[in-house]
Amino acid sequence: MRQKIESVVSVLQQALRDFSPVCFANSLGAEDMVLTDLIARNQLEIEMFSLDTGRLPQETYDLMQEVRERYSVPLKIYFPDSKAVEEYVTRNGVNGFYGSVEARKSCCFVRKVEPLRRALRGKRAWVTGLRRDQAVTRGTLEISSFDADQGLQKFNPLLDWTNRDVWAYIRQHDVPYNKLHDQFYPSLGCAPCTRSISPGEDIRAGRWWWEDPMSKECGLHVTQSPSVAHGTGVQAVSKLRENADESASKVEAKQEVSA
Ligand code: SF4
Repeated sequence: MRQKIESVVSVLQQALRDFSPVCFANSLGAEDMVLTDLIARNQLEIEMFSLDTGRLPQETYDLMQEVRERYSVPLKIYFPDSKAVEEYVTRNGVNGFYGSVEARKSCCFVRKVEPLRRALRGKRAWVTGLRRDQAVTRGTLEISSFDADQGLQKFNPLLDWTNRDVWAYIRQHDVPYNKLHDQFYPSLGCAPCTRSISPGEDIRAGRWWWEDPMSKECGLHVTQSPSVAHGTGVQAVSKLRENADESASKVEAKQEVSA
């Protein structure tokens, strides 16, 4: 673990050395809480920001507040353009994202992609907490590469960390985390587009669960070869919790999420 931590800090230092100004897109997920802690602990001059889509779960807002109180690094919050949200809702309805992949991506564009572009403006690099084994769409990522979509360098220092590594760090360093992780939500996003998973399901099965796994990105992280799958064992998600022994499932799911 010590070696893995040193390697992450070294990647962040390299980003600062070669690509300042650098910012960190903090989604407040478990991986990003590890990075938050490492950035604060090592006093790295990396600007930290989050996107408030307006549809986040209460638990995410609670964590946002906790980060503000716990860490000295300020967390800047970006909101969507209110006119664009109004237009989207007028055109599609307040929950129009369930209607089609296009309508969903359009909502993600208004609430996430456009604010992200604003947040990245003027920066030479950005840091994310993406891990390779999180999704079929993330198998070809690199630790450092030019992000042609955003026009700047992108660093994924936790790329080769496992879920177990992430939770080991959180426990060892008493890092605050989103309480929804204790309720079988390994991957978090907007409340209406995220649900809990069952044991054995892919960790992103609860995100946009009604869509095909290959379309499950919001546009923040565009990969060049989305057709290449990385062995995540994606399983059908339609029968969530049916016929499951509720108590046994809870114990197993928590172990998987927290391991
Ligand atoms: S995750 Fe859902 S609510 Fe959030 S921006 Fe995307 S479509 Fe909209």
